[in-house]
Amino acid sequence: MSSDSVKNFSSLETPGYVGFANLPNQVHRKSVKKGFEFTLMVVGESGLGKSTLVNALFLTDLYPERQVPDAIEKMKQTVKLEPSTVEIEERGVKLRLTVVDTPGYGDAIDNTDCFSEIIRYIDDQFERFLRDESGLNRKNIMDNRIHCCFYFISPFGHGLKPLDVEFMKQLHNKVNIVPVIAKADVLTKKEMQRLKKKVMDEIQEHGIRIYSLPECDSDEDEEYKEQVRQLKQAVPFAVCGANTLLEVRGRKVRGRLYPWGVVEVENPDHCDFIKLRTMLITHMQDLQEITQQVHYENYRSEHLARGGVPKRNTIGDDKGAATSDKDRILLEKEAELKRMQEMIAAMQAKMHQQQ
Ligand code: GDP
Repeated sequence: MSSDSVKNFSSLETPGYVGFANLPNQVHRKSVKKGFEFTLMVVGESGLGKSTLVNALFLTDLYPERQVPDAIEKMKQTVKLEPSTVEIEERGVKLRLTVVDTPGYGDAIDNTDCFSEIIRYIDDQFERFLRDESGLNRKNIMDNRIHCCFYFISPFGHGLKPLDVEFMKQLHNKVNIVPVIAKADVLTKKEMQRLKKKVMDEIQEHGIRIYSLPECDSDEDEEYKEQVRQLKQAVPFAVCGANTLLEVRGRKVRGRLYPWGVVEVENPDHCDFIKLRTMLITHMQDLQEITQQVHYENYRSEHLARGGVPKRNTIGDDKGAATSDKDRILLEKEAELKRMQEMIAAMQAKMHQQQ
């Protein structure tokens, strides 16, 4: 599949459900009509199982034509950003999912430049959205902003590597980072608990802000509260991926076959795969809202400040919704005017040259 192409998969063609058809009712109704758009970025050193996990999560083959480079090529290559889009339909609800892979991340000998491509890509999507939002066709904007970033941590180290710390620190203001420990099956339960604690301690120590699940309202039902509590406890999610279906005691399961037994991807006693998927599906809307209200607004106010327009206090600004709405419209008009002035200036310069 070419990187930007779109494929259609219906739940009838793939066994099992991803589960987004169970999105909260309100979102569900909207999604039925319009379809749900979501963009996920996966970052981590190659070989940590990113593609395997993504394919297993969404029950699709997102990378049918993928070529794995050898070690020499890897050392030379820089980070490439590869978006693949699939449309999945479940019980009449459409999800247009884009997964942005980052092959080459962490592969070079000197990885200092690893983040610039990724930052540029995220900013470009914000920029495109900002432009579309202040344009004439505001109703049909395609949202390609990155709503969530799975950051893969190696299970073979003793915690975070300097590269992991640096990446998360540079990106935590731009995207919702969800840390995951890859290849959970290579560690014992005890080792995994130790690694999880170490990673969380280091995240705190370095002041890294990862995505945090929203607090439950007091009127939420107990089952949901318990689910959120368990999800919070599981961070960083220890995951395991596989795309083969094996038979275990008469059941077909997605798993990895070892001489001593099968590691079942979807068994909560074996790894946090189901928890990660539940987190993503049940909090898709929250991930989108935080992207819009926090990360995008940060980008927008910085962008407008750079363009000479007064910086607007965006997050937690409760001085009156009416004022902020007026502000927003004014700022948009100003941005539009500025763009038009630039266009006229460019046209005048061109005419001048031709004369
Ligand atoms: P990527 O480069 O990060 O996209 O990694 P791949 O998905 O291509 O996986 C690299 C290798 O690791 C492949 O041989 C996979 O079969 C294997 N692999 C993927 N997920 C897991 C896992 O959860 N546990 C183990 N032990 N191996 C895995």
